Amino acid sequence: MADQLIRATAADGGIRAVGAITTRLTEEARQRHRLSYVATAALGRTMAAGLLMASNMKRAGSRVNVRVKGDGPLGGILVDAGVDGTVRGFVENPSVELAPNEKGKLNVGGAVGDGYLYVVRDVGYGYPYSSTVELISGEIGDDVAHYLGTSEQTPSAVVLGVFVGAKGVTAAGGLLVQVLPKAAADEALIETLESRVAALKGFTPLLQAGKSLTEILRDLLGDMGLVIFPETQMLRFYCGCSFERVLGALKMLGETELQDMIVKDRGAEATCDFCGTVYQATEEDLAQLIDDLQKESAPG
Ligand SMILES: [Zn+2]
Repeated sequence: MADQLIRATAADGGIRAVGAITTRLTEEARQRHRLSYVATAALGRTMAAGLLMASNMKRAGSRVNVRVKGDGPLGGILVDAGVDGTVRGFVENPSVELAPNEKGKLNVGGAVGDGYLYVVRDVGYGYPYSSTVELISGEIGDDVAHYLGTSEQTPSAVVLGVFVGAKGVTAAGGLLVQVLPKAAADEALIETLESRVAALKGFTPLLQAGKSLTEILRDLLGDMGLVIFPETQMLRFYCGCSFERVLGALKMLGETELQDMIVKDRGAEATCDFCGTVYQATEEDLAQLIDDLQKESAPG
């Protein structure tokens, strides 16, 4: 099934639910960054979380940056997701591999370690909203739910999953279920939701059983006045980097540094952290930048 996201409400607008399938974009990230199994799971879960979190932003062009910084061997994880359904991201140490945890699952918590989750919501103007929480388990789903519950004061359940085998990622995605202020005092409702989400035992088994997002939400909230929004949003891995931007960044280094690159390296190479694209600037490109700088600084 294509990567996609659907939004829904239930309980007369007291519950907000979002489901996302991110199998292909997670596989693309795995290939681009040559991710290990555990790094695929860690980045895949964080990308799904970013897309789920971006899904309630109102303004076009809004983005969420999710940074997980733990003291484990994986190093940091950085994800940039948009309300437009695009996402990109990387991990600091993509080749780190760990033995499975005691449940026989990929040990994302062990790879991430103890640390912090940083979230920045940027609507495209004014100051972005940013907040930080301590990591609960490093398994990402718990950590994002904790963030949403404390920093954004919205009690939330987050279920994230990535299944990666010898042939790559075959199932990935997640669910976000939030209790909005009008239902926040309804403890029976919250309890029912909690027990149902806990009973799911993960997200990828549902995809592997052939369930669609609509079916998953119906199973979960079908008897609670579920209303699924008609629009299905497509999701994809996308990075806005370009050769022009790389040249712009090189130009900012200044004439002396550029001259140095021409003499010592006969050009310059830059790799985009987010998508792994390698850009090569030739001696001629660098000479042109120096030329531009000289023209810009020439008097009158
Ligand atoms: Zn890029």
